Amino acid sequence: MRKFTHLQASTIKEASQNGARGNAMVIAGGTDLLGTLKDEILPVYPSVIIDLKTIEGLDKIEEEGDSLLIGAVAKLADIASDETVKKHCQALAEASGKVASPTIRNMATLGGNICQMHRCWYFRTPDDRFHCSRKGGSTCPAYLGDNRYHSIFGIQNGCIAASSHDTAPALIALGATVITSKREILAEGFFAANGFKSCILEDGEIVTHVRVPKSKKSVFEKFALRKSIDFPIVNCGAAYDDGGKVRVVMGGVYPAPLRLTAAEKAVEKGITEETAAKAADAAMADAVPLSGNAYKIEIARTMVKRTLLRLEG
Ligand SMILES: Cc1cc2nc3c(=O)[nH]c(=O)nc-3n(C[C@H](O)[C@H](O)[C@H](O)COP(=O)(O)OP(=O)(O)OC[C@H]3O[C@@H](n4cnc5c(N)ncnc54)[C@H](O)[C@@H]3O)c2cc1C
Repeated sequence: MRKFTHLQASTIKEASQNGARGNAMVIAGGTDLLGTLKDEILPVYPSVIIDLKTIEGLDKIEEEGDSLLIGAVAKLADIASDETVKKHCQALAEASGKVASPTIRNMATLGGNICQMHRCWYFRTPDDRFHCSRKGGSTCPAYLGDNRYHSIFGIQNGCIAASSHDTAPALIALGATVITSKREILAEGFFAANGFKSCILEDGEIVTHVRVPKSKKSVFEKFALRKSIDFPIVNCGAAYDDGGKVRVVMGGVYPAPLRLTAAEKAVEKGITEETAAKAADAAMADAVPLSGNAYKIEIARTMVKRTLLRLEG
């Protein structure tokens, strides 16, 4: 690793002011960021790393009326085991509990999970050997290369890497809002290929909290190749909103998590074996697999049906 200045922030203001100053990045659990620094995959190496864990109270999980307010550096292990989260936002507890391994969940934070960079192996190859479109290059090597884990719903900003944040589909299904040092953003609009970032944060902008509305029922499902520790091939979150409508969101199938509105429509009048199957077919109707990933369509179809039936069961 190269040398950098490590700044332990004590307030959000201090963190965002320093973050906006030139070549700085924030660190939370470090389970994603440190790998990218060791492998030199970022187009510009940060000279300052700002630690958010030293900001007092930023790891709290609190009830706030009809919502839960979760601090950006709350650890995934704590979210997964928190009784209030399990009771009111079950999908988020389940998603947090399915990220990586117990060791990683004890370091990793919610803010870091939603801001993590994409997992495409071309993007992540050490020493910037593939200067792909996500890093400002002119091509996406995965398009004609090995794309078995990539998007089945097309390209976003020149990139076909699949979103890999496990908590994102749960948060979007629950109608969560991401609160930053500058603004409030619906989770549904937060994720987008944006240079090497996977979300729309501007330079120096920091996620401080996530507000998650309570839901009478919500669930999360994940399919990964290894059960012990692995990124999702496909994941799916579903929740009832406060008007009783179902929201369904899928990850691992597009560069950002995808809201499955056709599937939601198919279960408008209730979830049964038959409507869940129709919803799964409707969700996959527009899929356009690449040379190596048609297998994902059947997995995704099964995940939608399974998630909906669990939501009803
Ligand atoms: C072996 C392994 C397996 C993994 N498996 C999974 C998996 O199954 N599912 C999954 O979802 N992820 C997985 N991950 C990815 C990663 O560990 C998690 O996403 C984790 O939640 C990242 O959180 P962190 O606090 O460690 O983030 P960090 O590494 O500290 O930060 C990640 C990124 O987010 C930015 N960031 C962090 N906090 C904030 C904030 N508050 N505001 C603005 N920007 C911020 C950082 O600058 C950095 O770019 C895995 C990682 C590894 C190494």
